[in-house]
Amino acid sequence: MDAQIEVELNDNSKGWNGMELTVIGYWGAFPAKNEATSGYLLRHKECAVLLDCGSGVLSRLQNEIELEQLDAVFITHTHADHFADAYALEFAALVLTQIGKRTQPLDVYVYDTAPESLHFAYPDYVRVHAIDTGQTVTVGEVMFTFQETIHEVPCCAIKATSPEGQSIVYSGDTGFCPGFVEFASNADLLVLESSFYEVQKGMMSGHLTAGEAGKVARLAGVGHLILTHLPHYGEHQQLKLEAGHNYKGPIELAHSGLKWSLQL
Ligand SMILES: [Zn+2]
Ligand SMILES: [Zn+2]
Repeated sequence: MDAQIEVELNDNSKGWNGMELTVIGYWGAFPAKNEATSGYLLRHKECAVLLDCGSGVLSRLQNEIELEQLDAVFITHTHADHFADAYALEFAALVLTQIGKRTQPLDVYVYDTAPESLHFAYPDYVRVHAIDTGQTVTVGEVMFTFQETIHEVPCCAIKATSPEGQSIVYSGDTGFCPGFVEFASNADLLVLESSFYEVQKGMMSGHLTAGEAGKVARLAGVGHLILTHLPHYGEHQQLKLEAGHNYKGPIELAHSGLKWSLQL
């Protein structure tokens, strides 16, 4: 069933033009030294949204914005490399509210079969919502939609669409999935997991090799590809080469602070 939810913006002075995505963390499994696992900051005009909140994200996020500026958080699944800092973020919301920097609870959307059993403890400061793939959530002027992916646990991909028609799709974790290709169709930017090298193809399920990531980008006809959720071994440039065999558009390897923006 289609449904619409509108998130009220926290009252802070902000103002970013166009839609911009910043990589906060991009490592799979655990963060490299002084780095973070999955976390992406999406900004548009008055709106600041965090996509995933893995290990190390909360600290590194403060290189980009003040935590009180966050309006909402979307979490693709509850594996620690996407979720570990969410409870620390709850304490941040609590303290920032108590010292007068936040004026309303932080909305946290989680894709999980039982979000009520998660260990958030302070509903006055963090409002936890289940992500429903039939639902649209609007934060500021940006519309968020969702699509289940193929992974070890329930996981969803996220699409952000601006009123100007720009779209950014973030895969979360996924294996090769025709439904996801359709969901990502014609996105201006696809932030896509690329957990493995081609030599590992078929050895792991619920994740993509770089070649598969390139294939997804080509089939979806996206404008730009960022490879992320990168492994702790091998040469990452090899991932870019392998994706490039299947996708001829622009490809970048995620790194901390990488920004992609479409100005108006
Ligand atoms: Zn996962
Ligand atoms: Zn992961």
